[in-house]
Formats: sequence, structure tokens, C-alpha cells
Amino acid sequence: MRSEVASLPGSPERPNEDWVAAVLPASGSGGTLVLLDGVTPPAGDDGCVHTVPWFTARLGGALTELSGSRRDMPLSEILSLAIRRTADAHRHTCDLSHVRTPQATVVLARWDEASVEHLVLSDSALLLESPDGTVRAVLDDRLDRVPAEVLRSLEATDRLRNREGGFFTAAADPEVAARAVTGTTPRAEVRALAALSDGASRWVELFGEGDWTDCFGVLRKEGPVGLLRRVRALEAADARAGGARRWKLHDDATAAYAELPGR
Ligand SMILES: [Zn+2]
Repeated sequence: MRSEVASLPGSPERPNEDWVAAVLPASGSGGTLVLLDGVTPPAGDDGCVHTVPWFTARLGGALTELSGSRRDMPLSEILSLAIRRTADAHRHTCDLSHVRTPQATVVLARWDEASVEHLVLSDSALLLESPDGTVRAVLDDRLDRVPAEVLRSLEATDRLRNREGGFFTAAADPEVAARAVTGTTPRAEVRALAALSDGASRWVELFGEGDWTDCFGVLRKEGPVGLLRRVRALEAADARAGGARRWKLHDDATAAYAELPGR
């Protein structure tokens, strides 16, 4: 069994707001991948006395613990319970009804001998590779459907944040778990899987260096570190060329890769 994770902050001056864990219990053939991308709050009030890393550490920790201890519970229920647990940790000090209360994208994948379960909420990506090499991307594309000019306006974005017709993130409302993209795949149909925050998936989605299958090939050959180094090199070249394509020079970038043991 091979599993690797890597994460690079977008800027040395700011904390990395991504969060990632790969859990491989020593007993049995199951495991879990968890990847969160904390939503960077714009300057101004978010109703919370904590930081985004504080939030992602609690949410990620709860997701990891519950995925292992509650094998009986579907991933959407695990997300719901993890959001509630995290909200309980600061509802007495913070205004959790604030539209910009700390929030994150979520990728959660869990496997055992029979199946691979997945859950994706907001714009991080999950890739599933079948034994014949076909790669399927599981994406929640609601944010992609929001026009770019809307996303340039904080007020306009806030009107779509965790609202019907807009896009959804894991914030303080456990009900959002029902909005996640979920599914189950027979274990025999998955050879390896990967999770990417949007700072890493820009190798495909922003720079167009290849498709998801090509991206998976980089992950296998060079590992998550190799993919992230390629992204940083593309960003640097793009900046030298005038850099009109991106809106953040570097974003926190995180990738996790796991090959499931043969059966
Ligand atoms: Zn708080």
C-alpha cells in the first residue's frame, strides 16, 4: 500500500489553510483520505474570534476520527456530525450565523474490502482510477457555474454563499452535508485515488497541462510533491509572462494520493 500527501502554502507570510490526512489502519484493508481547503476570509468581520486553520484542524480532526470510529455511518452523516461538533466548539464565543463564518471545501473518501465511498463539497477534486487506467473526476461544480464577475464582488459572492442557487461549503450548518456530491464504487473498480485542493488542480483546470488522467500519471510517477512543484513552476512562468490568467499568484496547494492494495 502506497499513500503520500503534500501541501505547500500559497505564501510564506500566511498560514496554510488547507488540511489533509491519509489514515491507514494497521489492521484490515480499509483507509480514509480527508482534504479540506479553508476559505480565505476577505478583510473584515467574519463573526469569529478564531482562525481558518483553527477551524480546519477541528473539522478535519472530527472527519478523520468519525470516518474510522463510525464505519456504520454514511459519509454525509459523518460530515453533518463533524460540522456540528466543530460548531459546538465555538458557538458560545462566535456568531455562527455570519455568512463568512469559517468554512472549507471537503473531500472525504473511505474504503474497505467491499467498496470505496466518496463525498465532495465545493471546489476540491477527488480522482478515482480504475484497474484499466480510466480516471474519473468527482467534482462539485456549483462554484464553477457562478460567473467570474460575480466572484470578483464580495457582496455578490456572499449572496450566493451557502444559499439555494449558489454554492455550498462546510461552515456551521450541519444540513449542508445533504448538498455534497456522494457515491459508492465497488472496491474492485478502484485501483488508486487522489484528492486535490484547487491550488493543485489548477495544473488541469487553470493551466491546461493535461487532463485528469495525465494529472493522475504525474501523481503516480512523481508523487504529490512532484505535482505541486510543477504547479509552482507554471505559476512562476505565468507571472513572468504577465500572468493575466490567474487571480491569485499562488494558492495553498495540497494533494493526497493512495494506491489501494491488490485483492
Ligand atoms: Zn470562532
